[in-house]
Amino acid sequence: MNIPKSCDVVVIGGGPGGSMAATFLSQKGYDVVLLEKQKHPRHRIGENIIPTFWKYADLAQVSDKIIAENFLQKSAGIVAWKGSVKKLAFKDFGFSRSALHVERDRFDHILIENAREKGAQVFEEVSVLDTHLNESNQEQNVTYRINEDKTSGQIACRFIVDASGQGAVIGRKLGIRVVDQGFRFMSIWGYFKNSKYMDSDGKIHPWENLRTIPPVTFQCSIPDLGDWGWTWHIPQRDRTSVGLILPIEAMKTAKPTSESWESYFLRKCYEIPYLSQLLENAQYCQGDFGKINDYSYRLTQVAGPGYFMIGDAAGFIDPIFSIGVPLAMYSAYLAAWAIDRCLKNPDSLGQNQALFTKQLQGRYEVSRSLALPRYESGEQVSKLAKTAVQLQSQMEQELMYVVSTMSTRSDNFSDLVTNENGQRVTSDKLQVISELETIVI
Ligand SMILES: Cc1cc2nc3c(=O)[nH]c(=O)nc-3n(C[C@H](O)[C@H](O)[C@H](O)COP(=O)(O)OP(=O)(O)OC[C@H]3O[C@@H](n4cnc5c(N)ncnc54)[C@H](O)[C@@H]3O)c2cc1C
Repeated sequence: MNIPKSCDVVVIGGGPGGSMAATFLSQKGYDVVLLEKQKHPRHRIGENIIPTFWKYADLAQVSDKIIAENFLQKSAGIVAWKGSVKKLAFKDFGFSRSALHVERDRFDHILIENAREKGAQVFEEVSVLDTHLNESNQEQNVTYRINEDKTSGQIACRFIVDASGQGAVIGRKLGIRVVDQGFRFMSIWGYFKNSKYMDSDGKIHPWENLRTIPPVTFQCSIPDLGDWGWTWHIPQRDRTSVGLILPIEAMKTAKPTSESWESYFLRKCYEIPYLSQLLENAQYCQGDFGKINDYSYRLTQVAGPGYFMIGDAAGFIDPIFSIGVPLAMYSAYLAAWAIDRCLKNPDSLGQNQALFTKQLQGRYEVSRSLALPRYESGEQVSKLAKTAVQLQSQMEQELMYVVSTMSTRSDNFSDLVTNENGQRVTSDKLQVISELETIVI
């Protein structure tokens, strides 16, 4: 492995954030080294990709490859929350391109290969062990270890982009990764073959119809966990991803300690209304059960001397509105923009880091507002979030508003979205489905 001793930018991690940052920086002509500790294709959870990602895919010149992969296109999202069933279709908001249900091993592999093709030097199975941040901003250093032969080395660079996801290499080192007490959630998931699925009219179809009648992403609140727990059903090309989001506090009593998480998962899958129906006669895929604990956290600082954090390494709130991947891509774009400006004009460093921070933390705050389970009166809706929302197009604002009304978890969001006259945005694009069909077509 011929890892260089120096470069302009080291990117830690080759998920969507890191691969896109490496691509954008390479497109700008910088010498980029990306270090990824795993080998692609590698599994990741987070398979519902909303269409806002296409604009970044276009900028990275990777859209054609994603289209050629022929991932499953979804038609809408249906949410059954505490008895009320609502549907949202992106095309009603003016989105001309489809949201996708992707296998993340394949999707992420396409992105990292694209980074390589655009000129980034990509090294897989190389773990970053440490970063040595230089306050004077002259030179940063990254220590890595090659997994196979355990040899280690160092790269000197001008900037580090931390895209290490939940690993949050720099955040953990600096002790600035703060668990979000409002969102103590965990998630468990698994995969099923031959699951039935729901179409955009709420009708249930057999698996075989998937390519002719597109599926929805189906989400449903979990009755005994109130507003807090919910489940996803995401059909993909060969199998269906099913997951539960569980509030950690409630789980102290909701699951007997003698029961394994996997058997709890399977039991709940067949207890939850609609989901149990979709999974009737489906075959569970043994060996692919997954679990992640306590995944919500913020970083008190997302940029500093010589570094920018992006994607999950900069914060992760909650997957309820599936904005993780587009947000990782957006932050990658923002970091590349800021680094380019800093390298061209070193005196602008402070200004660019401040701009990056403001934009990114605003987006995370929006995501927090969208996912907040309960509106606590007196809570100040963040100014940062309001600015971040107002910077987005009317189409995206309206979409966010509607999305926030699909569950009862984000009443506060309407305060963020106002039109030019200061009036709240409303929308007639949310369809209430009075009753879900239970007929198998
Ligand atoms: C339960 C759950 C459901 C989700 N559902 C969705 C969804 O439906 N839609 C959606 O858009 N998002 C979803 N997300 C979020 C989404 O998966 C993430 O936001 C997204 O993967 C972030 O991309 P990233 O590149 O920042 O991080 P990652 O995809 O995690 O990539 C980080 C990479 O860094 C590498 N790495 C880590 N440490 C090191 C190191 N020390 N050295 C070298 N490499 C390192 C890792 O191996 C990894 O490949 C979900 C998340 C969870 C927890």
